[in-house]
Amino acid sequence: MPLPAQAQQKPEWTLVIHGGAGIIEKGKVTPEQEAGVQAGLNAALDAGSKVLASGGSAIDAVQAAVQVLEDDRHFNAGRGAVFTWDANHTLDAAIMDGRDRNAGAVASSTTTRHPVALARKVMEKSPHVLLAGAGADQFAREQGLEQVDNSWFDTAERRSQLDKMKADDKLGWFDVDLKYGTVGAVAMDAQGHVAAATSTGGLTGKRWGRIGDSPLIGAGTYADDRACAVSATGSGEYFIREGVAHEICARVRFKGESLKLAADTVMAETKALGGTGGVIVTGPSGEMAWSFNTPGMYRGKASAGGARSVEFYGDQ
Ligand code: ASP
Repeated sequence: MPLPAQAQQKPEWTLVIHGGAGIIEKGKVTPEQEAGVQAGLNAALDAGSKVLASGGSAIDAVQAAVQVLEDDRHFNAGRGAVFTWDANHTLDAAIMDGRDRNAGAVASSTTTRHPVALARKVMEKSPHVLLAGAGADQFAREQGLEQVDNSWFDTAERRSQLDKMKADDKLGWFDVDLKYGTVGAVAMDAQGHVAAATSTGGLTGKRWGRIGDSPLIGAGTYADDRACAVSATGSGEYFIREGVAHEICARVRFKGESLKLAADTVMAETKALGGTGGVIVTGPSGEMAWSFNTPGMYRGKASAGGARSVEFYGDQ
């Protein structure tokens, strides 16, 4: 008897990535920015796909993809992270394994080159889920992770965004450059397991030890083999209040919704609160989805035997 169409089409592995959402519209993105973001997203898809195509795990794939984006100055994570009000960088990241819902996260790290690698160490080498501040970087050193001076994360473009914000008190907290540049990846491996990872510098001009949704399990990052894996980008405060990533997984698990319907519904609810941004999702069914309530989102996807795509705008 032939398999149902959906089972026949299930890819052996899937990978979806994002590099932030916001006012990303044709004509508003410079050719240099467009080419740089495109190359960065393709390099991240290459890194994650290589892991998955050779039978590697979803958790290794999402880490590999995110580390590439952390090193790329076009994105607000690792090198290229936004500046805090005090002109520093405090970095947040999380990683989660859908097999057993094991998770690790780090908030306000200042010297660890790859915050997502530190989140992975927190998951695997500590009894904790979330470490913050100086203690997180101390743990990174103890685990032998590469340390850099905080200025290593500096870029001229991010500096000018901070200067612009300080010069104009009419600019809002959430949209100094009208773009969120957080990075993330979700994957399903050949064993049908899912994983998610997110990494960010947070919001330009953030103060008072502000932490966003990215390192909060259930808000900006979640993975559960019984449902799906989610990574978010956007105005973190609203994503925390909505519990975006877990909420999407809960709708899939308890209501049997498709990933796309669950993501669209939760993004609409987040918008109703005032939140803007987007999510990427994949699940053990092999479905890949994204949803955003901003004009655009830097995003890409790849799957075994499937077409690979990188997209920026809302009408693609
Ligand atoms: N969600 C991130 C935060 O609020 C920002 C971003 O997506 O760029 O920290």
